[in-house]
Amino acid sequence: IAVDPASRPVLAVDQGTSSTKALVICPERGVIGSGTAPAPPRYASGGVVEADPALLLSSVVDAGRRALADAGEPVAAVGLANQGETVLAWDPDTGAPLTDAIVWQDRRAASVCAELAPHADMLRELTGLPLEPYFAAPKMAWIRRSLTREGVVTTSDSWLVHRLTGEFVTDAATAGRTQLLDLDTTEWSPAALGVFGMSDERLPHVVDSAGQFGVTTAFGDPIPLTGLLVDQQAALLAQRVTEPGTAKCTYGTGAFLLAGTGARPLRSRTGLVGCVAWRLGGRSSYCLDGQVYTAASAVRWLSDLGVISGAEDLDRVGSSVADSGGVTFVPSLAGLAAPWWRGDVKGSMTGLSLETGPGHLVRALCEGIAAQVVGLADAVAEDTGIALESLRVDGGLTRSELLMQTQADLLQLPVEVSPLPDATALGVGAVARIGLDPGMSVERAAPRWRPEKVFEPRIGPAEAAERLGVFRTEVAAIVARTPSAG
Ligand code: ADP
Repeated sequence: IAVDPASRPVLAVDQGTSSTKALVICPERGVIGSGTAPAPPRYASGGVVEADPALLLSSVVDAGRRALADAGEPVAAVGLANQGETVLAWDPDTGAPLTDAIVWQDRRAASVCAELAPHADMLRELTGLPLEPYFAAPKMAWIRRSLTREGVVTTSDSWLVHRLTGEFVTDAATAGRTQLLDLDTTEWSPAALGVFGMSDERLPHVVDSAGQFGVTTAFGDPIPLTGLLVDQQAALLAQRVTEPGTAKCTYGTGAFLLAGTGARPLRSRTGLVGCVAWRLGGRSSYCLDGQVYTAASAVRWLSDLGVISGAEDLDRVGSSVADSGGVTFVPSLAGLAAPWWRGDVKGSMTGLSLETGPGHLVRALCEGIAAQVVGLADAVAEDTGIALESLRVDGGLTRSELLMQTQADLLQLPVEVSPLPDATALGVGAVARIGLDPGMSVERAAPRWRPEKVFEPRIGPAEAAERLGVFRTEVAAIVARTPSAG
């Protein structure tokens, strides 16, 4: 008897910044297997954040094999989510990397952006993205200038897919993170390519997020690759943030807030990013996106200093005191992203006294992350003209009840926590299912949203506004005292 492949489990692999996570997802039984493999980047002076491409690939294979072994069942398809703005050069004939992967957090392309500043408005209108070293195209141009050997320069997904199946593709949502994609047509923009000096570049074919992208034997038996999506958009899909009035935030290495805007390619007026959410059946859905560059990486910094013994320790140390003791911490340790776009500013900690202890610093950090997320949520509401009613959250840091309660308090809205920290894998699993059955709707492919826990605000609007006001004043002070390079 023929079994409908869309009813069989799929393998969903999320190649993230610090590790690769894989799930085997069954349409009826949910997650039936999981596996992870570390893939930490290297941080070095001068804004350098690099990853070993071989480690990215081996972590995908290892995490995938572990999840399959855990499930003990064959899968009908595989989906792959990627880091988005991480790029590398490689030899298209052999697949050999020619550079390390330059991770999304890397700041070295700031020089390219400074040089291209006169084109910033035109690029923003064309692609929906501000001119920033965070995005892929400035990094690609930077590599192109320093690379002496022939090769292609692409986002990490294209290389991983090439190694897995031999195809040379990127999905429209990942391509939308480059600043080379025309936001309206979702095809490469000759004008944007010209600005970056990349008119002759051999670029991957821009494909839908669901389809047939070759067959891989990397996990054992041959499995078709049918889903490709950039990580934040995959989490957006998994959290079913397709209706106005809600947004999702993923708290990992950075924190990323996204809200769906439907079939309308919106250019943000508030400094957010307007980009492709996914493209299915040739039709694009769009979203607004804002980010906090340092969330878990600021937690790691506090732990490296010995203030806490690790992220798991945030709540214990933070609960030892009632409040932040007057400390304001702007944790922009790798600069400020949307809506300021000042990657050059440093973080700040003010209001310190002899009474300041580790608990105050932990609470001030949670407030600092949460206050930036409030700024992004406010910007979404302003751009769409629709007030948010809740925030759906996922990512490793959602395990901190202190951070989640602080978020609900400052946002003054319910914060709904995903039952699985890694919604990204669920999202790319959903598009992999659509790849098997192109008639399937997003709503059917993604599991229904059922938060595991909801944090309600415990402070009133006046106190929230006061605390946010103090934070915003400090951010404005940092920005004002840092001369702009651009
Ligand atoms: P990424 O996808 O960027 O690699 P993740 O979403 O996997 O990030 O989140 C990893 C982060 O989650 C860790 O760096 C850590 O800060 C945080 N984390 C992990 N476990 C806990 C925990 N029990 N409590 C609080 N934070 C945690």
